[in-house]
Amino acid sequence: MLFVGGVALLLWMSDQADKEGKRATLTSDILWLEQNLRFHLTRNEELLGRIDLTHTASAKAFESFARTLFGSESGLRQLAWLDAEGQVRLAHPATMDPSLGGETMEVSPSRQSFRLAKSLGKPVYSPTYPFFTNDWQFEVHVPVSREGRIIGVAVGVYRIRDLLGDSVPWWLAERYRISVIGDSGKVLGTRSKVESAVTEEGYQVAFDPPGWGLALHAVPYHAPRPLASILLSASLVILATIVLWSLWILRRHVLRRQAVEEQLRQEHAFRKAMEDSLDTGMRARNLDGEIIYVNPAFCRMVGWSAAELIGRRPPMPYWADDYLDETRFLHDRVLAGQGPEEGFELKLKRRNGELIDVLIHEAPLIDAHGQHSGWMGSMVDITERKQAEERVRQQQDRLQSTARLVAMGEMASSIAHELNQPLAAISSYCTGAANLLRNDAPSTEVVPALDKAVEQARRAGQVIRRIYSLARHSEDRFELIRLGERIDAALALMDVDTRQKGIRVTLELQAQPLIEGDPVLLEQALFNLLRNAAESMRDTVPDRRQIDIRLACTDGYALLTIADRGCGIDASVADKLFDPLFTTKAEGMGMGLAICRSVVENHRGRLSFETNPGGGTVFHILLPLAPQ
Ligand code: ADP
Repeated sequence: MLFVGGVALLLWMSDQADKEGKRATLTSDILWLEQNLRFHLTRNEELLGRIDLTHTASAKAFESFARTLFGSESGLRQLAWLDAEGQVRLAHPATMDPSLGGETMEVSPSRQSFRLAKSLGKPVYSPTYPFFTNDWQFEVHVPVSREGRIIGVAVGVYRIRDLLGDSVPWWLAERYRISVIGDSGKVLGTRSKVESAVTEEGYQVAFDPPGWGLALHAVPYHAPRPLASILLSASLVILATIVLWSLWILRRHVLRRQAVEEQLRQEHAFRKAMEDSLDTGMRARNLDGEIIYVNPAFCRMVGWSAAELIGRRPPMPYWADDYLDETRFLHDRVLAGQGPEEGFELKLKRRNGELIDVLIHEAPLIDAHGQHSGWMGSMVDITERKQAEERVRQQQDRLQSTARLVAMGEMASSIAHELNQPLAAISSYCTGAANLLRNDAPSTEVVPALDKAVEQARRAGQVIRRIYSLARHSEDRFELIRLGERIDAALALMDVDTRQKGIRVTLELQAQPLIEGDPVLLEQALFNLLRNAAESMRDTVPDRRQIDIRLACTDGYALLTIADRGCGIDASVADKLFDPLFTTKAEGMGMGLAICRSVVENHRGRLSFETNPGGGTVFHILLPLAPQ
């Protein structure tokens, strides 16, 4: 605004100065003209006053005097000589013969002016009077005296238009329209060289002599402004427009920039608030492994401030001393772009030396130009989770050992359960041997019975030891075993039983898997399952009494299936089936399945059951295959 105001003021001032200059010139010009006219008229008065009557008495001489006067650009158009009475004695020209219509006009000088001139003895000017239609005249009456007596009056007639034409120089006429104005404001004569528009402003001075309210009026022509001034003004206006336009563009640019900056500021504040409120530590590194950014959560986790960390290169101050190699290895892998995608766990060291567990995920850092400029890592403190897991594990361990201790109590009964069968066998073998001895049977018949009794006694001893070792959670006795052979051994133990109950046993060996385990315990578990299967078919019609055993391999596991066609397992008891001491049998101890599961799980396997579609139950044992 200031600039535009300044430019406008400058233009206005230059215009004013221009006008002022013109006005001053006009004033001085018109004053000069007025002076010139006065000089003109005064000179004519003098000339008229000096009429030499000795020469002018004759009409001829008077005419030549008049011609001399007319020829000297005096503005005079007629000359007359009046005697003391006011009679026209001589006149030249005698009549006025204006070109208009060829009319003539006699000389009739103003009587009043004559009398005044005569009485005053000084030149007197008459009022203006019209001369034909568009011309005005006035007269000057100059008294002529000889030897102190007025002998007559010389009258000069001025025609205003001709007076102006004679006395206004061409250069003035070119600049102004010069008029003589009567006291009523009427224009009595005008001198103008060019016909052109005039400005309203003019300048007026009194035209005296001749007086009578006449005035000289000059109006300057509307001169075209000089090109240089126009160019200057135009260039100023153009410059101002350009400046305004560029200011407007600048303003728009600034506004847009401000809006973008505001948006950016808000976004930055939002991101900062987000980063600050994160519990996840964020750390960015450039391609050389130098830290370029850490968020507050990261600083809180490691106990080092951002200023201390930024710019650091490996080894970082928060790397745990005992895990330096591992950390360095992972660091190098990440920088090589081979960091584990699923993230990795690591131990780090706080500033106070405390160790923390963290889970780190690394992702490539892509800059605004789409260039890979480093790595951004997110770090979650999993120390508490790890500690909780450890606590749970320890608790479970304790629980397990407590359970084992509890189971020890039950162990006695389970041992009794497991020993029932060998003891019964020993008893029957010994009874048989005793009977044979009483009947004096040869030792060849007695010895095998006793051998079998010994064999059963040894087995009973083994069972006790293994169950004990199971309770002690020992894997010491694991060896490479063929599962098929264990099934055969268990079936052999069941032999008497199945035959007695008329149960058919089918064995389908689809594979011969090798597993690592304790043969006796596995045999015992299989035996328990087979015995349960046999017992479940107590009420089954003899024709349907059948146990189907199948051994196969799937996915690194040996899968053993034992299917019976017995009474099945009620859904209401399915949950408690593996609980120690749970039984539905009057003489049962409820330890068989509990022991089976312990044995299978001790071998890192799984024991499960489902309803046999053909009636009865199917038990599945999954055991991991021995490593090749
Ligand atoms: P016990 O044989 O001494 O009862 P177990 O732990 O071996 O103890 O079995 C617990 C219970 O599970 C049994 O009482 C029986 O009701 C049920 N059970 C086990 N195996 C079978 C099976 N094959 N068919 C039906 N029920 C079964």
